[in-house]
Formats: sequence, structure tokens, C-alpha cells
Amino acid sequence: MTEPKRETELVRGGLPALERATIHPYEDATPGPVYYQRMAHPVGLEAERRLGELDGGHALLFSSGSAATTALILALLKPGATVAVANGGYYGTYSVMQNELTRWGLIVEGFDQTGEPPNADLVWLEPCANPLMSFPDLDVVIGQAHAAGSIVVVDNTVLSPMLLRPIEYGADFVLHSATKILAGHHDALVGVVVCARTEDHQRLAAFRTASGIVAAPDPTWLVLRGMKTLSLRVERQSASALELARRLVGHRAVHRVRYPGLGDPVAERYVRAFGPLLSFDVAGADAAAHVERSLTVIENATSLGGVASTLEARARWEPDRVPPGLLRLSAGLEDIEDLWADLSQALDPLADG
Ligand code: PLP
Repeated sequence: MTEPKRETELVRGGLPALERATIHPYEDATPGPVYYQRMAHPVGLEAERRLGELDGGHALLFSSGSAATTALILALLKPGATVAVANGGYYGTYSVMQNELTRWGLIVEGFDQTGEPPNADLVWLEPCANPLMSFPDLDVVIGQAHAAGSIVVVDNTVLSPMLLRPIEYGADFVLHSATKILAGHHDALVGVVVCARTEDHQRLAAFRTASGIVAAPDPTWLVLRGMKTLSLRVERQSASALELARRLVGHRAVHRVRYPGLGDPVAERYVRAFGPLLSFDVAGADAAAHVERSLTVIENATSLGGVASTLEARARWEPDRVPPGLLRLSAGLEDIEDLWADLSQALDPLADG
């Protein structure tokens, strides 16, 4: 028989028991692999096995996506090291580096990931950047970064390993906020780093054990549970996001729509579907607030990748980086016509006014 497809692997095998014990007794006076939860726990080991297989590397769980980011920087770099971060990606990634880690000697700069990365010890890419939706030419950019001696991290939160496996294009590390589409239900905060090489995995595992920023069993179990339906959710949410993006392009109140599925030639070479996330602009801050207040089906909330659609004006969090009328929308599993009716009733008065 041929190897089962990844979609099949996702649903195969039962879930491990939700084991919360922080200790397991030594056997024959010898600590075993799960002797203390900060080092490893049974639910985490199973999640790491599955996540590692999905991305083609060696996975480690952290207490959030941002914890995973912090761990990567602190474990791999030294004072004076430079990091080049893709512009227009998750603002929290740039902020933790710029606002917290520069005090420890990190030097951070933004760059346009659709072009060549600057010289840096570490280059940070984010395909379908949240929320400005740029997409790097991974083969080329990772090749250029490696030629300059940089380590490459790809934040793959938006697309998930069902659509993109950055290690296949040479990424050294893949990062996920599993809080988003991997867990998928807005009920678990977890981060993942998948390492291409075992020696990096060992380094990062040692840092995690020492620092203690590990994911607990409960949210990890929810990630494992969510992953059973990951394939279906990614397909449906990507299809809905594409359809909404197309319809938004034709709406008179909408000035601009950003979604790589609307014909980004680079993204089209790497992925066959473009994930749940898009952003679009209305006239300004007042128009954006009107949309937020008018929605009745789509939740006016932060985050992305969940079964329920969410929308928010991003200027409340990152006013220096996005237009005041930018609305970020993550398509969930609701009926597409219900989603469009909700958006239409919120947007139509802006077109008439
Ligand atoms: N990376 C991306 C692309 C994100 O959107 C987020 C959160 O919004 C993070 C990382 C951080 O993840 P967490 O909220 O789990 O710390």
C-alpha cells in the first residue's frame, strides 16, 4: 500500500490522555523522558511528533507564538547580533525585538521581503504577512540570506503546513502561533518552532528547559484535537477568504483589498490556496469603526485562523504601520452568503454616504 496522505495522517491515531502530572517517578533510580513537566510531558511529545512530521523537521512547543519568537532570538543570538524582520508582518514580532530585546543588545531593522534581505545574522520572513499580505520569493530570498551567512526563520502562522512547508525551501526554522489555525478554535495559546536540524533542536530545547517557557498540557491537547480537522478548515477558510476578497474588490466602499490569492504571481508559485487572512481599506478611521460596530455575524475581535470569522481595524494596535481604514478579516467556517451579507450591510451605508 502507498504511504497515507498528510490529510489522512492528521486524523489517524487517538489523542493521548490529558496527563497533567508535573512529575513521573524515576525508574530504578533513573529519571525518564518525562520526569519533570518543564523538560517534557506526554501530550507535548505527541504534539511535537505530529507537528514535526507535518513541517518536515523537529518541533518544540512554547507557551505562545511570541514566547517562541523570544526563545529563538535569545537561544540563537548574542548581544550585537542583527535581525532583519519583514515589514508588514505581525507587529508583535517586531515589537518584542525592538521594544524589549534591543536592551539586551539586539539590533533590529525592517525590510521589504519581496526584495533582497539586508545583511543580518537572522532574517525573519512571513509569507502572507499579517496584515499587509506581502509574499516573499522563498527560494530566492532564502538563497540570498544563506549566501550572506544569515539564519532564516519563516513565520508560517497564516498558511499552516497544509499549504506551505518552508523547510522544503531551505528555511532553518519555521515558527507558528498555534493559537491561530493549528488549534483553530480561539481557545488555546501555544507557539511552535520547527527546526530543520537536530543540533538546533537540541540548543532550543535546552534553552526552553532552562527558561521554562514551555506550553502546558491543556492548551497543547487542544492543539492536537484541533489538528484533526486542520485540513478541512484550511481548505474551507481559504476558499471563503478568496471569495470574500473577490467580492470586496467590487464594493464601492472598499478602496483596496490585499490577498495573495487575487493574483500575486510569486505566491501562486508556492501555494495552491492562500489561507484565511485578508485585509482591505475603507475611507478612514471613522468608516472602519462603523464597520466594526455594524457586524452581527463576524466577530469584532482580534486574532485569526479560528472557526469563527474575526475582523478588526488594525490601526488601534499599529497606527504607525497601517492605514487608518485598514480592516483585517479572518474567514471562518460560516456560510459564505452569511458572511457576505454581514459585510455588505456594514459597508453599503459607506458607499451611499
Ligand atoms: N505570528 C503571527 C503571524 C501572529 O499573527 C501572531 C499573533 O497574532 C503571533 C506570531 C504571536 O502569537 P501568539 O499570540 O500565540 O503569541
